[in-house]
Amino acid sequence: MEHALQVYNTLSGEKEKFEPINAPFVGMYVCGPTVYSFVHLGNCRTFISFDMIYRYLTHLGYKVRYVRNITDAGHLENDADEGEDKISKKARLEQVEPMEIVQKYSLDFHQVLDKFNNHPPSIEPTATGHIVEQIDMIQDILEKGLAYEVNGSVYFDVEAFNTKFNGEYGQLSGRKVDELMAGSRELDGQSEKRNPIDFALWKKASPEHIMRWSSPWGKGFPGWHLECSVMSSKYLGNRFDIHGGGMDLKFPHHECEIAQCKAHNEEDPVKYWMHTNMLTLNGARMSKSTGNTLLPEELFSGANDKLEKAYNPIVVRFFMMQAHYRSSLDFSSEALSASEKGFERLMDAVSLLDSVKPSETSSIDVAAWKKKCYAAMDDDFNTPILISHLFEAVKWINAVVAGQQTVSEADLTTLTETLNGFVFDVLGLKVIDTQTTSSDDELTGKLVEGMIEVRKEAKSKKDFAMADFIRDTLTGAGITLKDSKDGTTWEK
Ligand code: AMP
Ligand code: ZN
Repeated sequence: MEHALQVYNTLSGEKEKFEPINAPFVGMYVCGPTVYSFVHLGNCRTFISFDMIYRYLTHLGYKVRYVRNITDAGHLENDADEGEDKISKKARLEQVEPMEIVQKYSLDFHQVLDKFNNHPPSIEPTATGHIVEQIDMIQDILEKGLAYEVNGSVYFDVEAFNTKFNGEYGQLSGRKVDELMAGSRELDGQSEKRNPIDFALWKKASPEHIMRWSSPWGKGFPGWHLECSVMSSKYLGNRFDIHGGGMDLKFPHHECEIAQCKAHNEEDPVKYWMHTNMLTLNGARMSKSTGNTLLPEELFSGANDKLEKAYNPIVVRFFMMQAHYRSSLDFSSEALSASEKGFERLMDAVSLLDSVKPSETSSIDVAAWKKKCYAAMDDDFNTPILISHLFEAVKWINAVVAGQQTVSEADLTTLTETLNGFVFDVLGLKVIDTQTTSSDDELTGKLVEGMIEVRKEAKSKKDFAMADFIRDTLTGAGITLKDSKDGTTWEK
């Protein structure tokens, strides 16, 4: 592999030459979703970014094993060690089994990522499918003296870890243990932990906690961070090449993963830590918990006040590729419309390639252009720079068709292969008809929005029979209305 791929490593804070531990094999682990609600567009950005990274590594000839988990247990409401399990809570609210919640939202996740043309990972393990392995890892960490049991729960002992490994806890996120302790002391009056910065490996299940398994410490459930340590090492080995996720996962999640793996294997688990930046909406992070979100379905149907119209998922993918994965990206309908125009221009040129007539000589330097395209991607997957080079090719193609430039047969072959390779294989775009492909969804969106307006009008005139009739008609068509103080929303 002659490419000098550079990857930004969060651990060193620098771009580093990409040298897999066991080339041409590459092991890549990405933290997957917690499947307790519909995946939002911010989550999608992270998974689309890693799909592009997976695609480029594969394009370069690496044999990538891509593992992305499904968190279906252990993720508590406040992301720390207290509160209700996110999935149990949803199951209680919707009055269904936790595994029905897991199934519903895993299906949604897969369908949405498929619309964005993401490749599935090589392995997609679940936390509940690896309880035995999680118990094994806890037992080992206990035997090594780096965890302790209290009243049916087991906690990781951060201080003991730091003593053994020269104060390494915090190395990824740049946090200092002393500062963390100072920050958390007041909040943690009655905790059973020896130290507030310790974290749960296993939690005793309270009587109402329905997701519970037998363990040497009684009935309970694993801590959220543990599953990723267990599943990454099981499928990729004790030390592997790439671990990814959104930058919000650096602390505590990834920091705890490192500590657990190192406690267990005495080895740093990951060579390159990669973190994607956030998708924002109105300048604030898109997030399930704050409700500042946009659902992919709303985008494809145009059924949201923040949108002027519906957008095809491939246009949205192109929009995301126009920003570097480490830059934050603000979502707006105007920016998406601009991307749609650019996308159409790019795809028009790609489709024109077949009709380009070669000449004896080239007036354009295709070899230098190809080099620039690879150089952009080799510079930590710089898709916006790559796309600017692709637009240079768009100009050429249009000029050759207009008879203002010439291209030789050999150069035309290189141009076609390179352009198709980047557009379809690496960026993962597809030929679509932006005029018609989203029209079904868009039409549904407009009709439902219209009916919601009529229902609102009926309610304001106290015509509840009509309001109920509209709701029932929509329910019959598979559309659920949800009323709240901010108005009415709907989902298919
Ligand atoms: P979760 O299901 O909340 O565990 O999140 C799944 C993935 O989406 C994680 O890698 C998060 O870091 C990522 N994520 C969450 N919100 C955003 C956002 N607004 N932009 C980009 N990635 C996000
Ligand atoms: Zn994880």
